[in-house]
Amino acid sequence: MNKQTHTILKNVFGYDNFRPLQEEIIDRTLEGKDSFVLMPTGGGKSMCFQIPALCMEGITIVVSPLISLMKDQVQALNANGIKADFFNSSISPEEENRVIEEAMKGELKLLYLSPEKLISVSNTWLKSLKIKLVAIDEAHCVSMWGHDFRPEYTQLKVFRNSLPEVPFMALTATADKSARKDIEDQLGLKNSKLFISSFDRKNLSIEVKGMVPKKQKLQEIKRFIKSKKGEGGIIYCLSRKNTEEVSAYLEEEGLSVAHYHAGMNSEDREGVQTSFINDETKIIVATIAFGMGIDKPNVRWVIHYNLPKNLEGYYQEIGRAGRDGLPADTILYYNMRDFVLYSQFADNGANSGMQKEKLNRMLQFAEAKSCRRKILLSYFGEHLTKDCGNCDVCSNPPTNFDGTVLAQKALSTVVRLREKEGLGMVVNVLRGSQNAEIHAKGYSKVKTYGIAKETSFYDWRDYMVQLANQGAIEIMYSENSSLKMSKIGWEIVKGERKIQLTKPVQLKDKEKLTKKKPAKVVSLNDVNSDLFEELKKLRFSISREENVPAYIVFGDKSLKEMAADLPITENEFLAISGVGMNKMQQFGEEFMEVIRKYKAKAKPKKIPTTIVTFDLYKEGLTPEQIAEKRGIQLMTVFSHLSQLFSEGKEVDLAQFVEAGIIERVKGAFEKNERKFELKPIFDSLDEEVPYHEIRIALTLILKDE
Ligand code: ADP
Ligand code: ZN
Repeated sequence: MNKQTHTILKNVFGYDNFRPLQEEIIDRTLEGKDSFVLMPTGGGKSMCFQIPALCMEGITIVVSPLISLMKDQVQALNANGIKADFFNSSISPEEENRVIEEAMKGELKLLYLSPEKLISVSNTWLKSLKIKLVAIDEAHCVSMWGHDFRPEYTQLKVFRNSLPEVPFMALTATADKSARKDIEDQLGLKNSKLFISSFDRKNLSIEVKGMVPKKQKLQEIKRFIKSKKGEGGIIYCLSRKNTEEVSAYLEEEGLSVAHYHAGMNSEDREGVQTSFINDETKIIVATIAFGMGIDKPNVRWVIHYNLPKNLEGYYQEIGRAGRDGLPADTILYYNMRDFVLYSQFADNGANSGMQKEKLNRMLQFAEAKSCRRKILLSYFGEHLTKDCGNCDVCSNPPTNFDGTVLAQKALSTVVRLREKEGLGMVVNVLRGSQNAEIHAKGYSKVKTYGIAKETSFYDWRDYMVQLANQGAIEIMYSENSSLKMSKIGWEIVKGERKIQLTKPVQLKDKEKLTKKKPAKVVSLNDVNSDLFEELKKLRFSISREENVPAYIVFGDKSLKEMAADLPITENEFLAISGVGMNKMQQFGEEFMEVIRKYKAKAKPKKIPTTIVTFDLYKEGLTPEQIAEKRGIQLMTVFSHLSQLFSEGKEVDLAQFVEAGIIERVKGAFEKNERKFELKPIFDSLDEEVPYHEIRIALTLILKDE
């Protein structure tokens, strides 16, 4: 274990342990070697170059294409008391001069540059800096194989070659095998070691809901958000129009929400983004244009209002939730309409075959009946050995049954309605609904009318979707979504083929599901929620004063720990995750003041300890059991019981001491001039009577007088 790096981790960043691979990467870098770091978003890549930067004399250069992220990281470093700055097209000439001056004077530990700025200054003042490490963030941008190729990145190799002795580190969250090789070559890394951490984000729950009608979908989303009590999240929609509609609906429900899409002008877009980052707007309804370059760690949930185009996009988008490692929820809604629409887009676009293939994989994932995380990760080449326990399928494993009879009922109804009706009508006929349309069309005379009343509408809809997925019927989107029979469907109706169906998940179970938290993730639910809210308010006002996003002050995780552990001394405060020396000095007092006030206020409300004992006593527990349950001394339990007895509460104290003992204690008590002192009495009874019995005897004696 390298002592220095651990000390920095704790004192500067406030963390107790390194995450997997961080320490190895840091040590290798300190040995002067190149590394390639592949970690998911939120995996903790920055720490890999920030700690070496602090260990070494001189400056670390960080190349990043994302201007907003640069500012964010620099603010976060400054908040931890580290001298860092950035240099990109967003700053004025005066600021440029200031940064150059600071860098030249050797005052900066880290300097962030955009690739184009780096190239343009690499032969001027940058040359005179004592560069000790170069980190290339978003390294996939150098590869033409990647999805985000940036030509400026290709010039970085020249820079690399100009610093042959300096370790280089390439970092990215996305790169498949061919891209990796390409990145190493393009950047000119030397004998670099590849570090890949797991892409499994255990803290994200995964849930998928298919074929939910729009109105119900909106209501579910509203209910879900309200259950999250002001915690922020993102809803991704397919179209710009959708973002506006959904956002308007939620706004009418009194929620703090804004929409975001590429059709808005850049000023509006930036306003929305900033207000979300600063926790002023809680919910963003956006197209997938939103999120690139956002580093907000406390996004607590992500909802997909429509089916994403591919699993890459889906994983990236849900990955924006829970970057702080605390539990976060993700829900995907999909229906076949989205799928059909995208297929048509794909037909007309470039690379049609591949896009459609990816879309099919996306749909397969959505319809899967086995652990979703397994499917998702295996798509990215990582194979889980166990089911995850934190997805909807794991929480409600499907039970299969022979659904042939059920299917026959449904299919013959489709036939009897002459393949003209959609799913809703078919189910209504099966369930014998009394609606006007059914009567008007004469469907109440159909032979299968009302033959399956006992199955709920919800379950029927699920079965119909299963029939469609298994190819027994086809949903004709071009013809008012009417249901058509397929060859397989006919075989089932004729009794030539059997079909397996799975039991739909009950609504009740679903509610349970959203509440259930995985065992693996630290549960911080037991915090004092009103204190947590107060701490959030303080954080917000500090963030306004300092003009930084709230999470730069402290992450949610730190605040939750404060609300759970109630630190009121400097040492206790430093033990909170994410509290380093600098933040302790800057903000500690203010936060502890809030906690102290809370403690003082909360005290009188606390149930007196004797009453807790009394309640257990009334439940019939013995004093021994009470002591064990409460984790207190037996003696203390007896003193509680004695006190309760003296106060007139119904406690049968006499059962705990024999009459003879009471007499002996009485004698000793008299001899000791009736002083209520246990030790002298204990001694004068030759240490034969235990303290607690003396205590009880005395109480009984005094009570009798
Ligand atoms: P990435 O750049 O890989 O997306 P970050 O570097 O932004 O991820 O780190 C994500 C979050 O994890 C940050 O809030 C960071 O402070 C935190 N973090 C990083 N390393 C540790 C650690 N060893 N212990 C606790 N938190 C950490
Ligand atoms: Zn699972």
